[in-house]
Amino acid sequence: MKTMMILANGEGGVGMQASMDALSQAKSALDAVEAGIRLVELDPNVRTVGVGGAPNILGKVECDAAIMCGTTLRTGAVGALQGYLHPISVARQVMEKSPHVMIVGQGAARFAQEIGAEKGALLTEAARANYANWLGDHAVPESEITQADAELVPVVWLTTQTHATHGTTVFLARDSQGHLAGGTSTSGWAFKYPGRLGDSPIIGAGLYVDDRYGAAACTHTGEMTIRAGTARAMLAYMKKGATVQAACHEAFQDLRALQGGYLGPVVLHALDANGTPYVLSTGSDDNVSYWWWAKGMQQPECRKPITEAL
Ligand code: ASP
Repeated sequence: MKTMMILANGEGGVGMQASMDALSQAKSALDAVEAGIRLVELDPNVRTVGVGGAPNILGKVECDAAIMCGTTLRTGAVGALQGYLHPISVARQVMEKSPHVMIVGQGAARFAQEIGAEKGALLTEAARANYANWLGDHAVPESEITQADAELVPVVWLTTQTHATHGTTVFLARDSQGHLAGGTSTSGWAFKYPGRLGDSPIIGAGLYVDDRYGAAACTHTGEMTIRAGTARAMLAYMKKGATVQAACHEAFQDLRALQGGYLGPVVLHALDANGTPYVLSTGSDDNVSYWWWAKGMQQPECRKPITEAL
């Protein structure tokens, strides 16, 4: 029996117990990842995922999620999904039931309905108030912005003035068989352009898992990790012999090479095939932490990442 473990980012605390319970019951790493993320999706206090998540610039909550099996490299993802409580489970069903790996927008909602996924209202009073306050602070009248011909791009640029727009939940798990899995779920960049996808549903950018080498997931500025193919790159570095720590720092070098475009904070989460964890943050967000729970520990531990400026 291999040592079981879960690595989740700071937003994942509420799901750690369910995830470890799944592993302890000899369920798969995939089941553990899904079980943990489902609870984060339901927690209205997590302002960047599922219920309570931040809406797009038109006030609609659009969710992205992905899941990946490290044994088969099968994966499923949804993007810009509206109106369903568990994007992670819809992503898993894309993997299990469809011939596809990613379904977005109205197609994702149609698929969710077809498989009988649970519907629900995701925009909470608090998230709605936060959105209204943001519009007010930036002198953007809601009645104007919701017109069909409103120019949204200049308004979306205003969101880059603060970095308080980030958050995803990521779970990476290793089960008793030594198999790895990973998952992501997020409402994405707060007040984003409708239909904007970040890295969380993009396999190879925000998530990648391969039992032979490890598991990796990213949070924060998806616009950067998509360009650098960060999660896949981290595993490729490990395949070529890098330690999990060296692979994360090498991936930072790739991010450093990006020129132009929107640049912001990034946090990398990784496990090697033996389950050694490493989390590396650009450090520009002091609130970043992660959860770590290896079998044998009484409870999960909240840790701070290593930081390195980009
Ligand atoms: N990486 C996510 C995205 O780009 C958001 C985040 O983690 O802050 O949508």
